[in-house]
Amino acid sequence: MKYIGAHVSSSGGVFNAPINAQNIGAKAFALFTKNQRRWDAKPLEASDIVKFKENLQKSQIKPKHILPHDSYLINLGHPDVALQKKSLEAFIDEVQRCEQLGLEKLNFHPGSHLKQISEEECLQRISESMNVALQKTHDVKLVVENTAGQGSNLGYKLEHLGYLMQNSIDKARVGVCLDTCHLFTSGYDFRSEKTYEKLMNSFDTIVGFEYLAGMHLNDSKPDLGSRVDRHESIGQGKLGLEAFKFIMNDKRIDDIPLILETIDESLWTKEIELLYNLIEK
Ligand SMILES: [Zn+2]
Ligand SMILES: [Zn+2]
Repeated sequence: MKYIGAHVSSSGGVFNAPINAQNIGAKAFALFTKNQRRWDAKPLEASDIVKFKENLQKSQIKPKHILPHDSYLINLGHPDVALQKKSLEAFIDEVQRCEQLGLEKLNFHPGSHLKQISEEECLQRISESMNVALQKTHDVKLVVENTAGQGSNLGYKLEHLGYLMQNSIDKARVGVCLDTCHLFTSGYDFRSEKTYEKLMNSFDTIVGFEYLAGMHLNDSKPDLGSRVDRHESIGQGKLGLEAFKFIMNDKRIDDIPLILETIDESLWTKEIELLYNLIEK
């Protein structure tokens, strides 16, 4: 079964996110548990946690179908030791916020080398940061996302994700999130059945389907391989609807959160319906 939703707002409090998800007919959702553009955050209030759990219960969405996203400021592979440490501390705080809310996964971007260290060295730092976070927390799965490869961001090759899985000290607590726009703009075509199968087979070989913990469903404004990160509404971009039909009918993609991060949120209800309608009976 497919669990589709969107990255909904938690403005006014995290407890609003499940309601916002329910309102668009979502069976899954993503959220920020703090302001994603700030380093500091007030700890979650006990009453907010209670309200979040109550609203989640009402929405009937299960924690395994929720994919919280961390702050954009965090760079686990930062070339500067002090700033890597700052990122790691903020990251651990985000993991702990998820634990408090009873959530099971945390989605993050690998990090960037800022042209100051090599890609290999940066990946090694990211891996070390992940391992420290695993040691210092209990049960949230660290879910690393592939990127468009804009600027000096790593994660634009499946090999980067594979490296981070293989070097994890706790393989049961790491996973990956595949963003369809990022896949496409980083150079992976999957607009035909043949290219789709080819991509998914290499994903299985290089990373492994056992690590697939979520997907971001976005069409793409820029072209294949442009390494630019600009999302588009489903079926309205360069990727096109056909690519999403393959995903919706792929049993290997069952039972994980499938999250829209498309640009026009007034379309989310329709996009969710559109995607469900792609499933062949
Ligand atoms: Zn994404
Ligand atoms: Zn993106």
